[in-house]
Amino acid sequence: MTKRDYYEILGVSKNASADEIKKTYKKLALKHHPDKGGDAEKFKEISEAYAVLSDENKRSNYDQFGHAGFDQRFSQEDIFRGADFESVFDEIFGNAGFGNSMFDMFFGSQRRRGREERGRDLSYEIELSFEDAVFGTKKEIMIPITEACKKCNGSGAENDDVENCKECSGTGQVRKTRRTVFGVFSSITACDNCEGNGRVIKTKCRECKGAGLVSDMKKIKVDIPAGVDNGNQIRLNGKGDVNRNGKNPGDLYIIVRVKKHNLFRRDGYDIHLEVPVSFYLAAAGGELEIPTLNGKAKLKVPSGTKSGTMFRLEGKGIKYVDDDGFGDEYIKAVIEVPKKLDNKQKNLLKEFDESLKKKRFGIF
Ligand SMILES: [Zn+2]
Ligand SMILES: [Zn+2]
Repeated sequence: MTKRDYYEILGVSKNASADEIKKTYKKLALKHHPDKGGDAEKFKEISEAYAVLSDENKRSNYDQFGHAGFDQRFSQEDIFRGADFESVFDEIFGNAGFGNSMFDMFFGSQRRRGREERGRDLSYEIELSFEDAVFGTKKEIMIPITEACKKCNGSGAENDDVENCKECSGTGQVRKTRRTVFGVFSSITACDNCEGNGRVIKTKCRECKGAGLVSDMKKIKVDIPAGVDNGNQIRLNGKGDVNRNGKNPGDLYIIVRVKKHNLFRRDGYDIHLEVPVSFYLAAAGGELEIPTLNGKAKLKVPSGTKSGTMFRLEGKGIKYVDDDGFGDEYIKAVIEVPKKLDNKQKNLLKEFDESLKKKRFGIF
């Protein structure tokens, strides 16, 4: 089904001002309002066009992408959600609340839908030692969480003592009517008395005093997988707050902060380390004992190693958080120039230096 152009529906030009769009919609709305005998489909069509063209962001998306592109970005509900119908209808009818119920009119009661809404997501920042992040660990955290009251299972009623709402006869919806100069208008909205539930509590639960919810500090076990890094998030499904009916909990996000290590520097799954190498060892070559994540290891230093030379120990880095691979360990050799020499050492070095000169020039 191809949709008609929104500008065409309202009968305004592409560069119509916001004011002009509002005025035009107001005129058309009066004519096509279903409670005035207008056609409901027609009323929805003009209301949709107005919802889009009266919103700067939606309008520019529509101008840019046309119907097809726009519909990919905005659902029908997105279109009506947040649209400003209030000011239009309040201007016509006085503050009758018709604008508020526009969304309900097209999509049913929002509050009724609200019962199925997910509860709030929570987040918690956890600080880990370098080793705990590398090897994984189990932690217990205390966090304030809203849960359904255990005594009444979130109903808020003592022993399920509820009755049908008298205001709406248990339907959860009421029809509001208002007499205006244009005639009688009515709209269906969620019942205020029972918040759209259709039932009201007769005897309140003693535990939660009828709220159905309790907030308390709760202990939660968190499995930290090996390899997590600073800024990683661990999502615990369904560990967030419940919604206002005690159901459908959100998620809990654990945000990882990792402390620095005094030797190793982390870069992704690799670790970096600087080791001092004596002048002798660098010149003559040999073995050097170096720290790794799993204890000590031997590193072969070839003769003639220059300061700044980088060695790589494959697979001695950090375990990948999402598979079985490992990063590498990089070791940077820093050749130490001996300081604070005694006379004997100075003479030995001098002798050594002179032997080099002879070799170099062969004359002195
Ligand atoms: Zn009710
Ligand atoms: Zn309770």
